[in-house]
Amino acid sequence: MLKIEDLHVYYGGIHALKGITMEVPENKIVTLVGANGAGKSTTLRAISSLVQPTQGKITFHGEDITKTKTADIVKKGITLVPEGRRIFANLTVLENINMGAFARNDKDGIKKDIQRIYEMFPRLKEREWQAAGTLSGGEQQMLAIGRALMSRPAVLMMDEPSLGLAPLLVKEVFRIIKEIYSQGMTILLIEQNATAALQVADYGYVLETGNIVLQGPGKELAANDEVKRAYLGKA
Ligand code: ATP
Repeated sequence: MLKIEDLHVYYGGIHALKGITMEVPENKIVTLVGANGAGKSTTLRAISSLVQPTQGKITFHGEDITKTKTADIVKKGITLVPEGRRIFANLTVLENINMGAFARNDKDGIKKDIQRIYEMFPRLKEREWQAAGTLSGGEQQMLAIGRALMSRPAVLMMDEPSLGLAPLLVKEVFRIIKEIYSQGMTILLIEQNATAALQVADYGYVLETGNIVLQGPGKELAANDEVKRAYLGKA
């Protein structure tokens, strides 16, 4: 349902994406793995219109959204959980969650969704009135995911959700990804933790300095010798 064709992005003189073609089918988890600076975040930022590609096309359900504004992309159902969480530190947990519903005006639906998010993340319920900046790293990540879910996305894009988290919390984040997916969500996941990402993903793309160098079903990529050597730290 989300398609990217021959996408090029430049940051000044840096050619960050050199013609990326990929697809995210409905109700699947697709992952993009690769080293630092490969262009993973840039791909998500281009889909969200946070950077403008110089060439290429992004379509959603067949509609060209390459030049659509970020807020309208959210309204169409594509939401990004950015790297580094980017929560509003001075606002409370509840206020942050409410921010995710900015494009909605169905009060009852919003209330129900807040309850659903509290069921998924009981920690957030306990800390409803706490300033978000005082949450732990893991709690902030939960909040960023919860806030993104408030826009009722059709596609949830997650940029390094496990970054900087202790191993137990990394497991918890992947458990949540699977839970969200089992509720019918389509997910585009970026991870440095390639092993875990390829295990949960239906399909994966390996990005290297702005090019897709390998692709295939997640488990196949995880078993691929080249991938193991380069990205999974195994010979
Ligand atoms: P990481 O895992 O480190 O976040 P990434 O694969 O997500 O890496 P990107 O953040 O997409 O990589 O960066 C791709 C390239 O574009 C890098 O060489 C990076 O230095 C460059 N780049 C990213 N953002 C900017 C920017 N705002 N200005 C200039 N160059 C940038």
